[in-house]
Amino acid sequence: MNEFTIIKNYFTAHACPRADVILGIGDDAAVTLPPSDQCLAITTDTLVAGIHFPTETAAEDIGYKSLAVNLSDLAAMGAEPAWVTLSLTLPVFHEAWLQAFSRGFFELANQHRVALIGGDLTHGPLSITVQAMGFTPPGKALTRRGAKQGDLIYVSGTLGDAGLALALLQGPDCFATLTVTEKNAIRARLNRPQPRVELGLALRTYASAAIDISDGLAADLGHILEQSQVGALIHLDQIPLSNIMQSSLSKEDAISMALTAGDDYELCFTIPPSMRSEFENTCGKHGFSCIGSITSSKKLIIQDKNGAPYHGKIHGYQHF
Ligand code: ADP
Ligand code: MG
Repeated sequence: MNEFTIIKNYFTAHACPRADVILGIGDDAAVTLPPSDQCLAITTDTLVAGIHFPTETAAEDIGYKSLAVNLSDLAAMGAEPAWVTLSLTLPVFHEAWLQAFSRGFFELANQHRVALIGGDLTHGPLSITVQAMGFTPPGKALTRRGAKQGDLIYVSGTLGDAGLALALLQGPDCFATLTVTEKNAIRARLNRPQPRVELGLALRTYASAAIDISDGLAADLGHILEQSQVGALIHLDQIPLSNIMQSSLSKEDAISMALTAGDDYELCFTIPPSMRSEFENTCGKHGFSCIGSITSSKKLIIQDKNGAPYHGKIHGYQHF
């Protein structure tokens, strides 16, 4: 099978049809027609084997995750995903691997009606780059720079589960008490992050700032604080932890993981206090927790319910 047949069999054949794709895979470039009244939000993320996912990760999960992390960035902008490109660097041609990769990728793409409109295929160490494009009404994109003193800080879902999954892969003996179902559930948090696309769209109406949590809550909230020129007070006891996190780790380790481990792909966002009740009533089904508020101090202060400050490390994942 040559590269053109690979593209046709595993990618072109599965791409979701959309009326705004004038020319998809197969030419020198794709041609699309963005809605005339919308801005285009564009993002890209690369996943490198051994860095962004353990080398033994199933191909289907790699396909899913490579798209999920990009859709998560669009969600954090309040953008509605539309088109993606995919650049694949493969060490070997392996039909079963490609089939599984494609299955995982399109499972998520079709769920969000996202069209694959082009890409690239090269030979080399396994690496996957996806570029995702989506729409936002002018002036409605969620940014990192709009948080104001007094705004409430929220996170979606639960935090630290992906970090727990990585720890599980590295030292399974510590987690002997978990059932197989629990282990699978926690591994799915690492391998199949759920991009919070619908929540991101709903936040257009309410949020003053938003970011997706890819490098740990403390580091990613830190980006909002820096760009908004504000500080935050976070209440340790309000950080949402899954039951599995609570039963497999000490409170201290669970909090540390929630603050610093990457790969959760939940959203962290701020809501002006005047919007609080409307936001909570309208958007409650998406699942989120209020963990603190924005201050004018330019510092991130984390404290327990007695007001004692948290002294653990808060550095997130950094490549360099
Ligand atoms: P060129 O040599 O002009 O860059 P390619 O031979 O790389 O074109 O690609 C041919 C067509 O297949 C292009 O439309 C390209 O966007 C698409 N394509 C290549 N690789 C992929 C891929 N992994 N997924 C989706 N489309 C792809
Ligand atoms: Mg060309």
